[in-house]
Amino acid sequence: MDRSGPKTTLAGDPNADLVTSIVERMRARVLKGARTFMVKVKAHRGEPLNEKADTKAESARQLPSEHRQWTTRTQAMTYEWRDKDDVKHVTAWSKAVRNAMLRGGAEYQRQKALNRAAHNWNKAFLLSTNSGLQRIRQATTTGAQSDLMDSTRWGWKCMHQLQETDSWKQPATTTWAAEFLLREGESREFLGSWLHSNDVHEAKKRRAKQVISCSFPCGKWLHMIGARKSPGCELCKRERKTELDATNVPAETVAHLQSAGCKAQKKSVIGAHNRCWKYLVGAIITHGEAKRDLEFIGGDKDRQLNQLWTETRIVSILPWEDIEDEAERLLESDKGTGQTATDTRVDQDLGNDQGVEREETDSYNEVIFGRRRPDSIAIDWNNKILHVLEFKRTSDQRHTYRERGESRARAQHDVLVRSLEKVAEEATGENKGWKIKLIIFVGGTCGSVHTQTFNNNLKELGVVESKRNSIRKGLVYELLNAQDTVLCSYFAQRSGERGTSWRGAGNVEEVFQGLDSFI
Ligand SMILES: [Zn+2]
Repeated sequence: MDRSGPKTTLAGDPNADLVTSIVERMRARVLKGARTFMVKVKAHRGEPLNEKADTKAESARQLPSEHRQWTTRTQAMTYEWRDKDDVKHVTAWSKAVRNAMLRGGAEYQRQKALNRAAHNWNKAFLLSTNSGLQRIRQATTTGAQSDLMDSTRWGWKCMHQLQETDSWKQPATTTWAAEFLLREGESREFLGSWLHSNDVHEAKKRRAKQVISCSFPCGKWLHMIGARKSPGCELCKRERKTELDATNVPAETVAHLQSAGCKAQKKSVIGAHNRCWKYLVGAIITHGEAKRDLEFIGGDKDRQLNQLWTETRIVSILPWEDIEDEAERLLESDKGTGQTATDTRVDQDLGNDQGVEREETDSYNEVIFGRRRPDSIAIDWNNKILHVLEFKRTSDQRHTYRERGESRARAQHDVLVRSLEKVAEEATGENKGWKIKLIIFVGGTCGSVHTQTFNNNLKELGVVESKRNSIRKGLVYELLNAQDTVLCSYFAQRSGERGTSWRGAGNVEEVFQGLDSFI
């Protein structure tokens, strides 16, 4: 037995259970008054009895387990659990036990959130007579078709139905954070690996967790805890120089700070968009299938689309002048029929979502003639397809973030796509047969990427299948890092306003500010 050094406790000693039983025996002897002598026996020095004990111990160790006579239970605590395949595990404390505990806790929380969804569903639909009864009838029929629903599946169903109800403005489950984390198919596995990664700074992880749990110390939150008089955006106030007029200033929410709608943040928001898109285009270009012949135009942000157009072979197939003419014609006829309303409607829709990325209403003219051109155009020479590519980086607090981003992109490039289609239709000879496809990528600011849509897009663009997952992971990481860069820009601007270090801060707000800008 190894007794290294003078220790006063057996805590953490691997032989604690053996030594305890020896100590107990000696105590019994001492209590009964028996004389007890301790004799130090030098190990491995030819002491016959010690050598014999050693040999016996060694040969016992070689025996198969059923011959072992040591039957006393260890006193160390053991843990039992069943894994997802219902296999029972029993071990002492280990990493596996820890993970099983965390998983169990998470499952409990998930069930709690889903139960709340069921509760909310009852409140919302049972009480409103007709529609409630109808929905119950619906639900019971599906229930009968697929056995009786367990509470988890029932909860999911309730959650989804509540989320699809237009008038429902609260979380369908317990909190917005639960709602965000329970959303399926949105690459949460990579959000998890980013939060666990050793390469990501703790402060970065903390800010991401604050955003997810709706406790990021932006103006609205500070107002909520009573540290600020108004929830309005300080940066916007400063920009507009109307300090006391809080009515016109948008609320300083995380979504606002992550949007170009906050003038002071615009530059870093655009930078974040470009950085994510640059990564994605790079990955698409690098990992193409061998037979693919894809040409990208539009990498150079400073040049106009019509200039870039003339530098590729496509100009002889779909002449730019024709596209321009068609666009002008479309704009004219849209004006007549009032079709331009599409864009406004989408913008209003977004306005309801607490100022999520609201861009200035550019006229279609500007859209088509250069400034608001798509992020890129990819020419698929093999299949005669012209892909108009758009990337939207948008707040993903609500589950509709992707649909909204997509409809905004569609409205934005409507005239361009329709003009291209028309010109392609009218092409003759070997220029015939070109198709136009609008491909929209939407990335949530907090790392949401819809797996199915994303993979479909990459497939369209001829990206090898084996690379699609790692490209998606990379995009999630880019999005999370971009979100953090934008938040840091916010802190920098907020502290710049006062021009003092946070150490001299006296109020809650400045203390929070200091904690977060202190990297
Ligand atoms: Zn602002």
